[in-house]
Amino acid sequence: MCGIFGYCGDADAAETILTGLKRLEYRGYDSWGVAVIGKDDSKDILVSKKIGAIGNLQDIKKLPESHIGIGHTRWATHGGVTELNAHPHFSNDNSFVLAQNGIVENYQDLKKQLESDGYKFKTQTDTEVIVKLIEQELLTEQELFLAVRNAFLKLNGRNTIILLTADNRIIAVRNGSPLVIGLGQNEVFFASDALSFADKTDEVVFVENMQMIDYQDNDLSLFELESLKKLKLKKNKLDHDAVEVSKEGFDHYMLKEILEQKDTLFSSVNYTEEEFHDLVKAAKKAKNIFVLGSGGAFYAADQVAYLLRSIAGVKALGLRPYEINSYLQLIEDNDLLVVISQSGETADNLEAIELIDKKIKIASTVNMIGSTTSRISDYPFYSRTGPEICVLSTKSGTAQVAFGYLLANSIIGQHNIAKDSVMRLTDYLKEYLSDDFLRDIKKIAKKIKSKKHAFLLGKGANYQVALLGALNIKEASYMHAEGFAAGELKHGVIALIEKGTPVISFVDDDQDREYMIGATAEVKARGAYVIGIGTENNELFDEFIELPTVSGISAAKIANVIPCQVLAYYIATERGFDPDKPRNLAKSVTVK
Ligand code: GLU
Repeated sequence: MCGIFGYCGDADAAETILTGLKRLEYRGYDSWGVAVIGKDDSKDILVSKKIGAIGNLQDIKKLPESHIGIGHTRWATHGGVTELNAHPHFSNDNSFVLAQNGIVENYQDLKKQLESDGYKFKTQTDTEVIVKLIEQELLTEQELFLAVRNAFLKLNGRNTIILLTADNRIIAVRNGSPLVIGLGQNEVFFASDALSFADKTDEVVFVENMQMIDYQDNDLSLFELESLKKLKLKKNKLDHDAVEVSKEGFDHYMLKEILEQKDTLFSSVNYTEEEFHDLVKAAKKAKNIFVLGSGGAFYAADQVAYLLRSIAGVKALGLRPYEINSYLQLIEDNDLLVVISQSGETADNLEAIELIDKKIKIASTVNMIGSTTSRISDYPFYSRTGPEICVLSTKSGTAQVAFGYLLANSIIGQHNIAKDSVMRLTDYLKEYLSDDFLRDIKKIAKKIKSKKHAFLLGKGANYQVALLGALNIKEASYMHAEGFAAGELKHGVIALIEKGTPVISFVDDDQDREYMIGATAEVKARGAYVIGIGTENNELFDEFIELPTVSGISAAKIANVIPCQVLAYYIATERGFDPDKPRNLAKSVTVK
């Protein structure tokens, strides 16, 4: 899931690379490494590596001045989080360094072979196998470019690699994990996403799978990996506003991004009927609509499927890509796949899409402009919530559900009414997300911060909200939180309730209200500490948080997860954790 960033140009390479890598940290922050070629005549490749996130750029010991280099921020898959395993990795003769985003799935076989050929490994990573393979190719192939190509063709899995050579050359290959080239004035960028250099240039070339880059002496060439056919550089203009990635006075991105929902929620549905026309036509033609998402986005996808069923009466199913096999035979020609993703680069999603070999159309709502998912979609839509830096999805998650709400309503001819409702909800959030609201939830967080477990109960669309809320609490604060359908309570979950166990219960103003009151009474009778999230307070609640609901839109439960986002934030900070960078996680999961 790592982030790759390469640079050549007039600016200081190390500083540019570190700034770019910081913007790629959502892809992993176990360690980072930067390799540059010093400006002196030595032509040595100089590498700096550190464990952990990059932190403050000012605190980093000045790296040597340079105009060319590559960098990597790692999410470890093979080999522990050590400085030795951090990328980039040197070749034995120090003539090049290499960084990888992905997994060499056949690394054990390749390593065994290389070891029996006499190669000695210094690290535990799968990446070193690529370095050694290139070295081996160089025994018979003089041209490094061809040696890299031949070695790459031996790899299984989704990998993108980037090399810096001591003679000022950058070579990169993409297969699976993303790679984008940015063309600025007298400078060129190579990165895992376009956002990381978006403040420098908006002219980009998307490298496709099985393509290879060679950059030397200001000359940039793109090739088809297997045939070595030279390709024309297809330049695209990135259409987005200047990118704001500062915390703007907030302690954490998480809180900043939660509060931004009052401005961003509407952005994912700000499409005209005309812009939705082809998608709606495909949705009406489809016998089944599958809504695909991973992790938190799966809960959003499942909530979207719920809305498609309950509002539009279509057969819709939330799909986890890693569990797609048993569903494959159910997918029919003309069905519709709706992909829900923040990054649009989630490897599990992309692999599932590849497995569907039927003629089905793909729609998507993605936050990251120019992502792989958007580019392979027949109907690409954007959440347009701006960069989401915190690993947990907050503003992009609610935007995804809002998109599903619009789609469901568009199918029944209510496009503009739904759009108007989301606009009213977005406006309502401006007063809802007040200082008092934050203060009250912080107080609740203080009271429950030392509890080991918390349970969340919901019904209908609030069931998905409960699951997502539980995930938010787990990810940010490491408190064990589980979401359940309230109906499951007496089928087992209730055995877990002890005196003082926090139970968060969604008691909305809908047809499930009485049911939820019943479920809440049952946990209360067993001593639970009840945090009621609802439209009005109730004697069963020990604590009460009001839901963000506006008449006419409450059915969608679009923003109902917000109280849990805030609670997760404060439990994390009260426990002394950094909610922006939870341990072991990365935002964009580009490995399987
Ligand atoms: N497999 C490589 C490593 O563990 C890269 C991981 C990744 O791209 O997430 O170092």
